[in-house]
Amino acid sequence: MMTEPTASLQDTLGRALRDLRISVTDRCNFRCTYCMPKEVFGRDYAFLPHAEVLTFEEIARLAGVFISLGTRKLRLTGGEPLMRRDLETLIAMLAAQDGAADIALTTNGSFPLERVRSLKAAGLSRMTVSLDSLDDAVFKSMNDVDFPPEKVLAWIDESRAAGFDPVKVNMVVKRGLNEDSLLPMARHFNQPGTILRFIEFMDVGHTNGWRMDDVVSAKEILRRLQTEMPLEPLDANYRGEVAQRYRNSETGAEIGIVASVTQPFCGDCNRARISADGKLFTCLFAIGGTDFKALLRGGASDDDLRAAITGVWQKRVDRYSELRTAQTADLPKVEMSFIGG
Ligand code: SF4
Repeated sequence: MMTEPTASLQDTLGRALRDLRISVTDRCNFRCTYCMPKEVFGRDYAFLPHAEVLTFEEIARLAGVFISLGTRKLRLTGGEPLMRRDLETLIAMLAAQDGAADIALTTNGSFPLERVRSLKAAGLSRMTVSLDSLDDAVFKSMNDVDFPPEKVLAWIDESRAAGFDPVKVNMVVKRGLNEDSLLPMARHFNQPGTILRFIEFMDVGHTNGWRMDDVVSAKEILRRLQTEMPLEPLDANYRGEVAQRYRNSETGAEIGIVASVTQPFCGDCNRARISADGKLFTCLFAIGGTDFKALLRGGASDDDLRAAITGVWQKRVDRYSELRTAQTADLPKVEMSFIGG
């Protein structure tokens, strides 16, 4: 079942602007080695000063303009979005918008469980939680702040109990770190109600020491899973869905594989990203973005913002993953923690 968005705004490759990922902070309480390595993001790291971060009002206004241009899904990201105080207020502001889009959150699930229900009550429609292993030592070595997997599992269970259905669970797979956690994770989430998605290790940013040798390909992930599970492919829910979908024909559980490195999907990419300081990025692997904070704080009207977004998107040519080479990996790409995954 493929539904096309009504959006008329298309880029140079005919891709509609459908999804907006909003980074509400560049800070995080984890130091995942594939995203925010401690050696770089240490005690002295200069995170964005408060005055440089978009206010909730600015974010809501900008999101409203994107919605008027056909955006259908808003995803709140970071860093870790729950590091931004009182996020429920922003969610309520977004949920109150005309033509309110679907509001999703990607979190590391490390916050007090009562937040799950307050996020739901504020209007959050979908919950995605990052969890890279059930193994205590492996997970702690990957988040690099000694955070135990049980607490994240409790957040996932609470999200299901609060009515988020399904809850998506994102697992980044890196060779030499957690490939042996693949099957235990798949066994644990082997029932409807959660969708476990395996994500190939990506050369995001320019500080995570990415090497192709550390990538466990989608093919290998699938092969490992099929040693135990009868998986049948499923159609995409919509054009631009990032995960390849599979269903376990015995349990009905769904899994996904995000193969940005070995099977790029740029041809259908309909995602834009706003950084916490108000820059618009048209690709996860971009080097630079367009400053909208200056427009927002410089008296621009909504029509001005619409024209500026249209101008950026209609010139968009991004397809980094299709053009990736060993050389491009070292480009000074923006950090994923700055624009959200
Ligand atoms: S590499 Fe860029 S253009 Fe390609 S799918 Fe990812 S974000 Fe989209």
